[in-house]
Amino acid sequence: MPFKTIIEPFRIKSVEPIHMSTPEERKKYMTAAHFNPFLLRSQQVIIDLLTDSGTSAMSSEQWAGILRGDESYAGAQSWERFESEVKDLTGYPYILPTHQGRAAERILYGYLGGKEKVFISNTHFDTTRANIEFSGAEAFDIPCHEAHNHESDFPFKGNIDLIRLEELLKKFGTEKIGAVILTVTNNTGGGQPVSMANAESVAAICKKYNVLYIIDCCRIAENAYFIHHRETGFETKSYREIAQQMFSLADGCIMSAKKDALVNIGGFLALKNEQLAAACTNLLIITEGFSTYGGLSGRDMEAIAIGLREGFDADYLNYRIKSTAYLGEHIRAKGIPVLYPIGGHAVYVDAGLLYPHIPAHHYPGQALVCELYKIGGVRAVEIGSVMFGKYDEAGKLIPAPMELVRLAIPRRVYTQSHIDYVIEVFDEIARTRSSARGLRIIKEPKFLRHFTAHFETL
Ligand SMILES: *Cc1c(COP(=O)(O)O)cnc(C)c1O
Repeated sequence: MPFKTIIEPFRIKSVEPIHMSTPEERKKYMTAAHFNPFLLRSQQVIIDLLTDSGTSAMSSEQWAGILRGDESYAGAQSWERFESEVKDLTGYPYILPTHQGRAAERILYGYLGGKEKVFISNTHFDTTRANIEFSGAEAFDIPCHEAHNHESDFPFKGNIDLIRLEELLKKFGTEKIGAVILTVTNNTGGGQPVSMANAESVAAICKKYNVLYIIDCCRIAENAYFIHHRETGFETKSYREIAQQMFSLADGCIMSAKKDALVNIGGFLALKNEQLAAACTNLLIITEGFSTYGGLSGRDMEAIAIGLREGFDADYLNYRIKSTAYLGEHIRAKGIPVLYPIGGHAVYVDAGLLYPHIPAHHYPGQALVCELYKIGGVRAVEIGSVMFGKYDEAGKLIPAPMELVRLAIPRRVYTQSHIDYVIEVFDEIARTRSSARGLRIIKEPKFLRHFTAHFETL
């Protein structure tokens, strides 16, 4: 008889105190931060759901690995352990360590990119797109059509649109294609999973057009969980085996270890092709470090090698996906509009629907992140017109397609009572929704304005 309560499958060995601020203090802090949670100090936050990137709690095994770290410049034992772990997981023979995901992106897409080149993905993550565009190339996002329908409970909303993929490959031709990139899970698309069937079709199409197929595998363990539970034929396969099957379809992968490898820093690039790997290794040595450490210390590589195993642990993944769903389902039941089904690493609230009285140019998403902080000290991130809005020639805002707020769940950091507290904060959000006010931007930089913009309330 299985029990209803999913407990955290770990005991707490070391704790970090949380300062319990008062609503009066938070009002002061928020004003000083110009109503932008990115400008808050971490000490001023009670529950920090800004990102799941690099915010994981490491295990006692990983901390033991940190002490074991071999800091030799070349051929360190820590490198050997890291390399063999990544090889075993991915099946790719050439492994390049990098300080985080975007460094691997800069190396690979910088090499493959350039003027006239084209990259195609279910959705490029923002650093992926930035690295591609910085090289002079163009990046096309072609998520499946179910991804646009918020009501649909299609189980694999992270899939790429296969028909559009073939159209684009035909249109541009093999020579112009830098790579096809499958992001699993699809972070920007709501942390939604990609099916094995979709990944297989992408492989067949890439083969037909003879183009490079790369997996952005930051959250491939979480994706494997969804395949195991939602796609027929995978019920008896382990999460690791599912990931290995997916890796076997592609020509290489890029990973930010700050996600499913359960560490605070690190990443890698892994490739099948020897010539491509040799060219990338040259760039690695010039900008990251020698090929047996890249941008990492020996202890970082130890922690990643261990974290890559732990990230596929069945008890851990069960707790991980269920606790994200727990938050999403509970606030949805209170009438808070969320993207559905709930994805792997985050819950996305539709602030445009929650606050219909706040127009896009008064930033309903920013209003919600400010309310969450003021009411409960919860820090979340706006993913709407503050982050993606543009101005037309007359200086009028062209809003983002949706006014979302992301509640990203750090791995192994918060317990159910922390999450229950966040759910309670949403009771108050729901009760006071009609009195929430929009904001105006009073200062903003040219690029990536969400990080540093200043606001005032209306
Ligand atoms: C985080 C992330 C990256 C970039 O990795 P960093 O380690 O932050 O540089 C790339 N792709 C996806 C899907 C990500 O989530």
